[in-house]
Amino acid sequence: MHDIDQIYIGGAFVTPHGNELFELFNPATEKVIGRVRLADKDDARNAIAAAKRAFPAFSRTDKRERIDMLKRMHAAVIAKEDELFEAIVEEYGAPVSRGRWMARHASNVLLEAAKVLEDYAFVRDAGTAKVMMQPLGVAGLITPWNSDAGFICGKLAAALAAGCTAVIKPSEMSAMQTRVVTEALHEAGLPAGVFNIVTGRGDIVGAEISAHPDVAKLSFTGSTVVGKTILRTAADTLKRVTLELGGKSPTIVLDDANFDEAVPLALDAGFMNSGQACIAGTRILVPRARLAEFEEKIVSAIEKTRSGDPRDPHTSIGPMVSRKQWERVQRYIRIGIDEGARLIAGGEGRPDHVGAGWFVRPTLFSDVTNDMTIAREEIFGPVLSIIAYGDIEDAIAIANDTPYGLQAYIASSDAARANAVASRIDAGRVLVNTLAHEPAAPFGGFKQSGIGREYGTFGIEAFLEPKALLGVRQARDSRPPDSAC
Ligand code: NAD
Repeated sequence: MHDIDQIYIGGAFVTPHGNELFELFNPATEKVIGRVRLADKDDARNAIAAAKRAFPAFSRTDKRERIDMLKRMHAAVIAKEDELFEAIVEEYGAPVSRGRWMARHASNVLLEAAKVLEDYAFVRDAGTAKVMMQPLGVAGLITPWNSDAGFICGKLAAALAAGCTAVIKPSEMSAMQTRVVTEALHEAGLPAGVFNIVTGRGDIVGAEISAHPDVAKLSFTGSTVVGKTILRTAADTLKRVTLELGGKSPTIVLDDANFDEAVPLALDAGFMNSGQACIAGTRILVPRARLAEFEEKIVSAIEKTRSGDPRDPHTSIGPMVSRKQWERVQRYIRIGIDEGARLIAGGEGRPDHVGAGWFVRPTLFSDVTNDMTIAREEIFGPVLSIIAYGDIEDAIAIANDTPYGLQAYIASSDAARANAVASRIDAGRVLVNTLAHEPAAPFGGFKQSGIGREYGTFGIEAFLEPKALLGVRQARDSRPPDSAC
């Protein structure tokens, strides 16, 4: 049993004022594996006060000092990579290959931020003015359960690179991963209060951070519904807000695609992170003229896709994170059947070979129309829909006919055609014949997939406010005063 009864405020591990206990489960066995004592509003306020105290000195540190800190944090997280991997598999149920990627990603994002900072100019010219990029203040960072360590480290890296101090509210369901990451970051020896980590309920600790007048910036990753609540709450104090929300990403298979490549791409995009990924390619758009051929190949590939014990190296789909999530996915499978989609793989219930655990059968529907519930709503499980299209215009229209716009995938053997389609898709990222991540490129959503961008210079600028200084340089021409007002 893991008993987690400390949070991190002002550079020290402290017992929370909150005393509610929350149970942690191993989703592969459904057994209770730990208990976490949750922070409350008082703890959130203490953490915000610590970050506020640390801000004046930290915001004046220079780039070199902050790069050194990020590198120390990177080294400290890498030193705990095995421990983090174990926590990810036990508490979240990630299959081993995914778990390894997630554990490494948590340290990588710190190093990537250090690299971006090397070349980032905090002062630049704009006409006769100098523009200074100034850190916003205390940042509230709120993260989901589906990649806890990566989001804690990624958001923190960008905030600190910019010169902000932070209060982090991780998912209450990820307390084991959070503990490992917190211990690692503590080892990096940053000044007290620069980052604070308070695990608590979203509607208590998260809501306090979203409303508190001493928090200048919110960076949230999670569901669209909670993102909207946060945006409304943050409006009272006009906080700057970055929202990374849900998705219903299309995988567009062009009629020239080689299906031996397109099918694995579509399945890997759809089933990534056991289907519990905001960027999962859950709508597979296939040319009607080649539908039967595509169905045959993808069904045969799904039969070889293993959903089960995350520690088995042959497993590519682990359990859903919770009973609630398992039930939600089952409900969507039922809705798909009821609305007339044709089930061609998987279905309700657990895979045949598993007893306990919140496992879902890798499920695929065909004859889905884009107005069906399973094509419109984020399911967050291994349930994919094939939607047939006529011509390319039809494919683009279907791909863009969604409230979301986080990511899209294109499979094609004609680069020029694929790029032409990519340029017309409304999504923050469009991946052509690849699933590779590019840490220097912006990440974030169009429409209801979010506001703002993370990663690279875009991510750091989300924690900065431009300030124009006029009259500090010799003006080349003289302009009338107050011309901007
Ligand atoms: P969630 O929205 O339920 O919770 C996310 C975080 O917000 C948690 O820490 C939670 O405690 C907190 N929270 C809940 N209510 C709150 C409130 N009223 N005020 C402040 N904070 C509150 O999401 P989840 O179930 O943890 O994660 C799954 C969702 O996250 C999916 O919709 C997925 O698409 C999305 N997601 C998006 C991205 C992205 O980058 N766009 C990445 C991963 C996950």
